[in-house]
Amino acid sequence: MEIADILIIGGGPAGLFTAINCKGRRVIVLEKNTVPGKKLLISGTGRCNITHDCKLSDFFSHYGENYRFLKTALHSFTNTDLIRFLETHGLETVVDKNGKVFPASQKSQDVLAVLLKACNTNKVEIACSHTVQEIDKSDQGFTVKTGSGIFRSKFLVIATGGMSYPATGSTGDGYHFARMLGHSVVPPKPSLSPVIVRDYNMASISGVSVQNKTIYLYRGEKKIAEHCGDIGFTHKGLSGPGILDFSRQILSGDILKVNLADTKADDFRNEIIQASDKEGKTAIQTYLKKFDIPRSLLLLVLKSTGVEPECRLAEITKIQRNQLVTAFCEFPFLVGKVGGFNMAMVTAGGVSLDEINPKTMESKLVAGLYFAGEVLDIDGDTGGYNLQAAFSMAFLAGNELWNKQP
Ligand SMILES: Cc1cc2nc3c(=O)[nH]c(=O)nc-3n(C[C@H](O)[C@H](O)[C@H](O)COP(=O)(O)OP(=O)(O)OC[C@H]3O[C@@H](n4cnc5c(N)ncnc54)[C@H](O)[C@@H]3O)c2cc1C
Repeated sequence: MEIADILIIGGGPAGLFTAINCKGRRVIVLEKNTVPGKKLLISGTGRCNITHDCKLSDFFSHYGENYRFLKTALHSFTNTDLIRFLETHGLETVVDKNGKVFPASQKSQDVLAVLLKACNTNKVEIACSHTVQEIDKSDQGFTVKTGSGIFRSKFLVIATGGMSYPATGSTGDGYHFARMLGHSVVPPKPSLSPVIVRDYNMASISGVSVQNKTIYLYRGEKKIAEHCGDIGFTHKGLSGPGILDFSRQILSGDILKVNLADTKADDFRNEIIQASDKEGKTAIQTYLKKFDIPRSLLLLVLKSTGVEPECRLAEITKIQRNQLVTAFCEFPFLVGKVGGFNMAMVTAGGVSLDEINPKTMESKLVAGLYFAGEVLDIDGDTGGYNLQAAFSMAFLAGNELWNKQP
């Protein structure tokens, strides 16, 4: 049996960064994969959007209703602290035009390399190919059984991530462990998911995207929400930050209406009427160029109205004009389904926050038990908010454990 001061289950960013901050203790990270950080490597399509370049106060609107839980964590280890940590370990960062922070090398493997080097410096032991199967708690501490060994420690951190992209190792094991130790779990569900559209006929423009469009969410006849953001067209439906961040609220059977023209329906109608008076010989496809819609998308949308691209403005009938207004100001997409855990970037739900002390990340129910990262019932928008949350929670847990008597 291996005896450690602190055992950490999960070698993702939350587990590794907790370990780094526990300095001076015998810390063992138990990771089921043959290598740590598999999900970190695919994050940001391999570029790793590590955090966001905004004021700290702006972070809180990006974590849904549970944002208050993160207040101490985000104040204790901010986005600038994270950037400084990477830079002092030799990894420069860059900010893109949307405020997303990436390693300057644009390689997530460089972020993982920094974490592994810091683990090495702090003598953290990383035991890979150890899938934790069972945890027992007694007065002596925690006994943790993996497929190939038994470990014991006074303190235990569960940093097993959520359930999304299960091939990376995050298969929801942490929920089972938490329940075994008396915790409740808010039912997990996919979040930051693309949307699969029923009767989708835009596969031919897969890869095309539009920026900063307003999306209206209809359930039944009623508009229930709206959101603004970038939209990407895929083989099967819609993706991009605007859809992913909105996906928490979307259900199968809903209708998403996209305002491609960035113009109110009545204004769009009036503009066409005025234009047909002034420049009646202009073809509709030429006139529509002013709305800055990618040409391939514009032609598909136009096709859906039955109006020929060469049709002159003066020839457009009232019925056609109404069809154009609907198509360009409220183009409808019927939601077949929202992508499942194999497509979702994060998991909403998880270990209930009511039972965790947000100032220390320690369980309120089991002394010596800590949680960090996506295993908890908190999830953020796209833009680096999820990794920042994982690092901030890990910093808090790690420092708390560092201060504990072994
Ligand atoms: C495709 C994709 C792109 C993303 N891009 C970004 C991005 O650019 N920016 C951003 O902020 N967020 C991004 N995210 C989200 C971000 O990667 C996660 O929120 C973050 O990795 C969570 O860190 P974690 O350490 O809590 O969990 P994870 O990274 O999931 O790590 C958990 C670890 O625990 C291990 N584990 C699980 N069960 C056991 C067990 N029983 N025994 C031993 N080990 C176990 C797993 O193998 C895994 O290595 C992305 C996610 C995906 C899927």
